[in-house]
Amino acid sequence: MVAAAAAGGLDPMDARRIAEEAGGDLDDQVTDLGRSRFDAMVERRRAGEPLQYVLGSWGFRSLDLLVDRRVLIPRPETEWVVEVALGLLPDDGEVVVLDLGTGSGAIGLSIAAERWPRARVVLTDTSPDAVAVARANLAGIGRAGTTVEIHEGSWWDAVPASHRGSLDLVVSNPPYVAPSDPLPPEVADWEPGAALIPGPTGLEAFVEILGAAAGWLRPGGWIVCEIGETQGVDVVALAIAGGLVDVEVRPDLTGRDRMVVARRADQPDGAHAVRA
Ligand code: GLN
Repeated sequence: MVAAAAAGGLDPMDARRIAEEAGGDLDDQVTDLGRSRFDAMVERRRAGEPLQYVLGSWGFRSLDLLVDRRVLIPRPETEWVVEVALGLLPDDGEVVVLDLGTGSGAIGLSIAAERWPRARVVLTDTSPDAVAVARANLAGIGRAGTTVEIHEGSWWDAVPASHRGSLDLVVSNPPYVAPSDPLPPEVADWEPGAALIPGPTGLEAFVEILGAAAGWLRPGGWIVCEIGETQGVDVVALAIAGGLVDVEVRPDLTGRDRMVVARRADQPDGAHAVRA
């Protein structure tokens, strides 16, 4: 079955993953149902649909997340954003964490699962479709989900006012692609445009997020945003303009600038320190 699909032009690893998903069995002893599921998935993959959507789920850190065309596919670089964000949290005590524009829920649900039960996590998304996927994934993480709340709405509009000034950590992988940026067809043709492109410059979501973050963080609280690798200077400037301090661009594991980290000053009049 796998060999036949691979002979038909499919990447052998993709064919193997599809076979596992279709029948849980890699030899040719499959049921008719397994066979027809396999054929349907192979057909979708051949038509160019990303493997993650064809399979319907994808691994992200410790989680197996439902993913479909309503949300961005969780990416390895975002796993590293979560790693950095977790490292900013104090070792003990309860924290409140916000994932702005959560999509599938990958970032916030990972933090809830990995810090359970000592992280209360708020997830938001402006897309009702994304909220539906995040809710399904919340249901899938079991008891770690008891510390999670999800709200629909645009950026800070979605966050309950009771969290103002009290967040320990905000994490976001917002849309940051400019319409002029080249995207591979597998991304441009299949993933939700609103999760990729925020407006004409690619910086519009950072303007919203970093413009108001200082009012939502507790004194000393951190914000971590995933960025495009050429956006460091612009996003640092937005963070400073938003009154944040200790603003820093961080590289990913391959040395590319892929996130900006900043915090609210401990003192309201704290000095601005920039390390970029
Ligand atoms: N890294 C994604 C891509 O370029 C973009 C993700 C985003 O805009 N948040 O494919």
